[in-house]
Amino acid sequence: MLDAQNRSIDYIRISVTDRCNLRCVYCMPEEGVHSLPHEEILSYEEIRRLCGIFSALDIRKVKLTGGEPLTRKGIAELVRMLKVDCGMESVTLTTNGILLTEQLAELVRAGVDGVNISLDTLDRDCFRKITRRDELEQVLAGIRFALTFPELNVKINCVPVAQHVDDALAIAGLAKDQRLNVRFIEMMPIGLGKQSEGIREADLIQRLECAYGKMTPCGQPPGNGPAHYYHVQGFQGNIGFISAISHKFCSECNRIRLTADGYLKTCLQYEADVDLKKMLRSGADDGQLLQSIREAITDKPQGHHFTEEVGETKPEQHYMSQIGG
Ligand code: SAM
Ligand code: SF4
Repeated sequence: MLDAQNRSIDYIRISVTDRCNLRCVYCMPEEGVHSLPHEEILSYEEIRRLCGIFSALDIRKVKLTGGEPLTRKGIAELVRMLKVDCGMESVTLTTNGILLTEQLAELVRAGVDGVNISLDTLDRDCFRKITRRDELEQVLAGIRFALTFPELNVKINCVPVAQHVDDALAIAGLAKDQRLNVRFIEMMPIGLGKQSEGIREADLIQRLECAYGKMTPCGQPPGNGPAHYYHVQGFQGNIGFISAISHKFCSECNRIRLTADGYLKTCLQYEADVDLKKMLRSGADDGQLLQSIREAITDKPQGHHFTEEVGETKPEQHYMSQIGG
């Protein structure tokens, strides 16, 4: 559907859990976050019902996120429901990759279209420092396994950190001999991200060109998200950038978010708009849900204000692991 700014909203990120098996320094505190009790999290049935309504509003691309989505039991069943029952065109997930070797075959059978695997370094010590866990090998095994499914779209998402530019260069090198795209996500000043220094796209491109040669901008299907891509000669995959700060893309934003506890968020930075869980559990019918969702999307904020001190997210949605990225 179109919002009041005439942006076509066709994509939703659904957080299925606020729990995670890593503790990335820019996302989650070492001690973890106070997790929501299970009954406060939307059930799969509730997500299915809401997705029927999103689908009716022409929002038919879903990304499952978290926390770590693969830590929630039965996620493949949710994928199947969204594809088969709700008629979603594309269901993908973003994961830290640790549980992929265990779960991916079932997810593919359920119809998952792609996986984005988050990885910031190929160095074991550095991985331990960033994620506070020693699980690099499991993630690499997950990537290798994902590439054995020819129909699966595989992307690596890297949040480059200022002190680790060489790690980002090595991650880009994954796209040289493998059929995957690598995307660099600019650090966003949300929660712990405010305390971490990222790398700006222009600086990283300069370093990448020194390492791999000229990068040529290449097309990306319109309406397919905020990344823009470059081709590097001799590379199988492309290198993308999602640069919310240095290349603000709010005027083309196509997405909304559903938090694990059922709030609809129409902008990453702003307070949640509608408590859909409350509506679901107090007996709202589909028409009332659709009306509330439509109104919230119509009023989607024009843009974020990351570089200004306004429009901060609510304290209880402080960490990126709780919003879903
Ligand atoms: N656990 C899953 C994962 O890591 O892919 C899904 C949730 S995670 C919050 C989704 C994405 O958000 C990851 O790629 C992560 O690197 C990114 N992220 C977390 N904090 C961020 C921040 N402050 N700025 C930019 N990206 C961030
Ligand atoms: Fe967990 Fe993903 Fe956040 Fe890392 S970025 S702590 S893997 S939710």
